[in-house]
Amino acid sequence: MMQEIRKKQLSEWAEFIAMSYRKGNDILLEEMAISDDVLVHCDDYESVFDGMLTYDDHQFHIHIDNAHNFHQGRGRFTLAHELAHYFIDEHRIGLQNGLFPPHGSRHDLDTKDPIELEADYFASNLLMPTQLFKYFKTPRKFTIDTISQLAQEFKTSFLSTVLRFAEIGNHSICVVVSENNIVKWFTKSNDFPDWPFKCRVGLPVPATTVAGEFFANRTKKYTGVEDIEPNDWFYPRWTVKYQLHEQCYYSDSYGYVVSFIWFD
Ligand SMILES: [Zn+2]
Repeated sequence: MMQEIRKKQLSEWAEFIAMSYRKGNDILLEEMAISDDVLVHCDDYESVFDGMLTYDDHQFHIHIDNAHNFHQGRGRFTLAHELAHYFIDEHRIGLQNGLFPPHGSRHDLDTKDPIELEADYFASNLLMPTQLFKYFKTPRKFTIDTISQLAQEFKTSFLSTVLRFAEIGNHSICVVVSENNIVKWFTKSNDFPDWPFKCRVGLPVPATTVAGEFFANRTKKYTGVEDIEPNDWFYPRWTVKYQLHEQCYYSDSYGYVVSFIWFD
């Protein structure tokens, strides 16, 4: 966990840079790299890493594995992550002095490594600066389309957009990511009811949830907005007068399911 004061510092610095290099909501990462004389190389690194920042002979280089297009989605997040290592003073100076060895980064939104957490947080603020992300107009009623629209507008990966929305989006949500019926990680907005979960990371998804029903019978792929009861996912501590919903996003290519849970 990063301290709030550190988060604030990183987010303000990332936002300041982003606002200087943008065309509307499109943050111009390559222009940023060029104007700071950081060379970006996109090559076949055989997926050993997604991205890496190195310092050789007084020159910074960013290497991006070409398995992912760095102009959008996951590849773009990787480029932002490597730029973050460059823009965060402690990371850049550490690399120059050899205190912080070059490391290949993987796109892993569940990392626990503090250096990687800082770079991911900075990257997310660089690509989705608060003042642009928060005020981008989406339909009043929340659905998965809200996330898709934001991801398209900011050219960001689906999961990085989910995390940013849970942090500063205009609707309170709870999100559970699962794979093969096992909960991988979850996140929720600060103002989502703080009820104990019926599930835990590393354990099965509750059977009566939309995701749980999918894992029990993979032909039951509900993609619409479903009405559910709070006690499908939680031990509700009080009554909420609004209807609770769940809608699932199924990533066939990466094999995970994302459950969005929200009140009207
Ligand atoms: Zn990294």
